[in-house]
Amino acid sequence: MSDDGKTFGAPVVIVAKEPIAVAGPWVTEREIQYVTEAARTAWFKDHYVFNARFEKAFAEYIGVKHAVSLPHCTAAIHLSLAAGGVGPGDEVIVPDVTWIASVAPVIYVGAKPVFADIKRDTWCIDPASVKAAITERTKAIIGVDLYGSMADWAELRRIADAHGLLLIEDAAESLGSEYAGRKAGALGDTGVFSFHGSKTVTTGEGGMLVTDDDHLHTRVMTLRDHGRPPGDKLFLNTEVGFKYKMSAFQAAFGLAQIERVEELIARKREIFSWYRNALEGVNGITLNAEPTGTVNSYWMVTVIPDPTYGMDKFALMEAFRERNIDTRPFFSPLSSLPAFADRPESSAHMPEHPAGEAIAKFGINLPSGYHMTPELVQFVTDTLRQILKA
Ligand SMILES: *Cc1c(COP(=O)(O)O)cnc(C)c1O
Repeated sequence: MSDDGKTFGAPVVIVAKEPIAVAGPWVTEREIQYVTEAARTAWFKDHYVFNARFEKAFAEYIGVKHAVSLPHCTAAIHLSLAAGGVGPGDEVIVPDVTWIASVAPVIYVGAKPVFADIKRDTWCIDPASVKAAITERTKAIIGVDLYGSMADWAELRRIADAHGLLLIEDAAESLGSEYAGRKAGALGDTGVFSFHGSKTVTTGEGGMLVTDDDHLHTRVMTLRDHGRPPGDKLFLNTEVGFKYKMSAFQAAFGLAQIERVEELIARKREIFSWYRNALEGVNGITLNAEPTGTVNSYWMVTVIPDPTYGMDKFALMEAFRERNIDTRPFFSPLSSLPAFADRPESSAHMPEHPAGEAIAKFGINLPSGYHMTPELVQFVTDTLRQILKA
């Protein structure tokens, strides 16, 4: 042992024996059985039976009239914009800090994304920033319920109605969350969901669009099937559309998942409570918020260490990676990404977004999948304490 104190006092790095994944599904015999049944039966006149059952169960769970199963959530956002008539020359107000899929479809339809800041507590789009971004070209607002948190839907609805704007709720990360007694996804003119393998309910890949609006629903059904209005048997396409459909096998898997949704949401909330309890007493960290009047389904347990720890998110991720623990960075502001560098909405051209920048610099998502146990959570939180102490 050297007596200069350096190596003697160095903390011992404990590495997980098996890598701890950041996300993962909960699959039971029910999912396997339904997919097997679909492989045998979902053909000919029955090709859509599992999709129809999944859509009905999903619409009932969310508390809306229509649900349309799709290949992914990106398609659901694309269809929401196209069905709402958003196109070239239009502006769509979006949060600067979100997954890029929330915003890419704005560019697909030829419109311009206008980035707004997020709120410091919920990490969701800030209505004050939305108001400041409105121009005579604004056509729509996309609010995102980030990491399970709910956006300020009462205020977003007021703004949308006052200016005659389409309001899209990106609920890809908030299935099972609630706002003022309504389920996430039921608060916009359309609500969109993702069933990517990392999400709360999964079909491997997949998505859903929900709406109470009959006109939007008919437009979505037509546009998602190459311009064939619902019921068309003559193949006389009325316009050039898209091809966005979910396979029967995915729908069968999704039906099993949605039949288990209460159990899935309860487990997500339980995983978060293990983290919250294990991190009690750690100073200078912020976890996901659940303001009064909301329920958070905690898609991803997210921790924002205070800047005084002197570690940005990439340094923090690296420290976890050395211990065999997979984490994800808080989404970076889209306006700061190379993808937008040559576009007019790049951060070089935009007013500053102080809240988004502050949060996105330090936050990471901790392992939050259904594989997590109290023991694994203890290991991850012990590791976090150790990293922050060093
Ligand atoms: C996952 C996600 C999407 C995209 O979902 P896909 O099914 O991969 O298209 C969109 N928005 C948010 C906020 C997401 O987290």
